[in-house]
Amino acid sequence: MQVPLLDLTKQYRSIQEEIREAVERVLKSGHYILGPNVEALEEEVAAYCGVSYGVGVASGTDALRLSLLSLGIGEGDEVITTPFTFIATAQVITQIGATVVFVDIDEDTFNIDVDRVEQAITSKTKAILPVHLFGHSVDMNRLLEIAKNYNLFVIEDAAQAFGSECNIHTQDSLNSWRKAGSMGDVGCFSFFPTKNLGGFGDGGMVITNNKDIARRLKLLRVHGGNSTSYSYDALGYNSRLDEIQAAILRVKLKYVDKWIKMREEKATLYNRLLSDVPVKTPCCKSYSRHSFCVYTIKTPLRDKLREYLKNSGIATKIYYPVPIHLQKIYRDKGYGKYSLPSSENICQRVLSLPIYPELGEEQVFYIAEKIKSFFEN
Ligand SMILES: *Cc1c(COP(=O)(O)O)cnc(C)c1O
Repeated sequence: MQVPLLDLTKQYRSIQEEIREAVERVLKSGHYILGPNVEALEEEVAAYCGVSYGVGVASGTDALRLSLLSLGIGEGDEVITTPFTFIATAQVITQIGATVVFVDIDEDTFNIDVDRVEQAITSKTKAILPVHLFGHSVDMNRLLEIAKNYNLFVIEDAAQAFGSECNIHTQDSLNSWRKAGSMGDVGCFSFFPTKNLGGFGDGGMVITNNKDIARRLKLLRVHGGNSTSYSYDALGYNSRLDEIQAAILRVKLKYVDKWIKMREEKATLYNRLLSDVPVKTPCCKSYSRHSFCVYTIKTPLRDKLREYLKNSGIATKIYYPVPIHLQKIYRDKGYGKYSLPSSENICQRVLSLPIYPELGEEQVFYIAEKIKSFFEN
């Protein structure tokens, strides 16, 4: 049996007619940039996440970049984040002239270790940028409290966590489940095809409850000005979400909860089948509702297991083989080898298995069977 890491064509085929009609309507409308579909998608994503505003942008990377700029972060400022994430998270901080401060991760959740955040705060710290990696929420209760105490912005990188939830409890309210991206000052999504809500190309969105931030983001995505009056007040970009992508994403948004449930079912099945195998299955803390954008196990025999699975026709991937502080572009920033041991250790042990809503149960059985036989031999 051949099992790819991901098969995006199955999902397309399941909603083919609806997608075609939505695209056709845009093509016939003559309105291709910042039209009614972008506006509607912004409202629909904001409503889905329980916030006031959504601002569609060209990618998840730009969602992060424009978020930082909209908060006035730049030269001389420090932003705290995790070294175990996709490179874009750190790159945008560096690109806008701020300094990345890496805080090591919690090896169970793969997320920034909230216990170690406070000691990384200096007088220059402006923001914390937590990443809900693989779809498991960061412990936002603790993180928001720290941010409040030190008057810091919180920018959530929810690129892998569309539809994930975190249980937030405040003094005056009962426990409540909140969507990833909706808890900080801003939340950033990517619509890259492999994400939980993926388009057929690049795209992204920032969500926020703050009207002023939303207004600034809308300026920044169109060159920092008003295209009617041609007056420019900010140094902006061309970073818009395509109308065609927005029309496609509006169709897909209706199914996203169903698809997340299908991911969850596959993850639950993996967990059960791998329970007596010497690998660590993904943890799911009680405050987190995992959306399983990625399903990642841990084993010290990672490379041998990966090779064995490959020879059995099973594709796997290593997210991520090298922590960001050891990447070439960050080598001169003062983080040597062994400086963030949990991240470095985890990079040696993680292996991501195929997961997507349409993945067949028989494929999960086959993969689990092969993992079992690897450890028996
Ligand atoms: C995918 C991703 C991004 C970047 O999104 P793009 O749409 O590819 O620019 C940023 N952060 C994380 C954690 C991601 O997984």
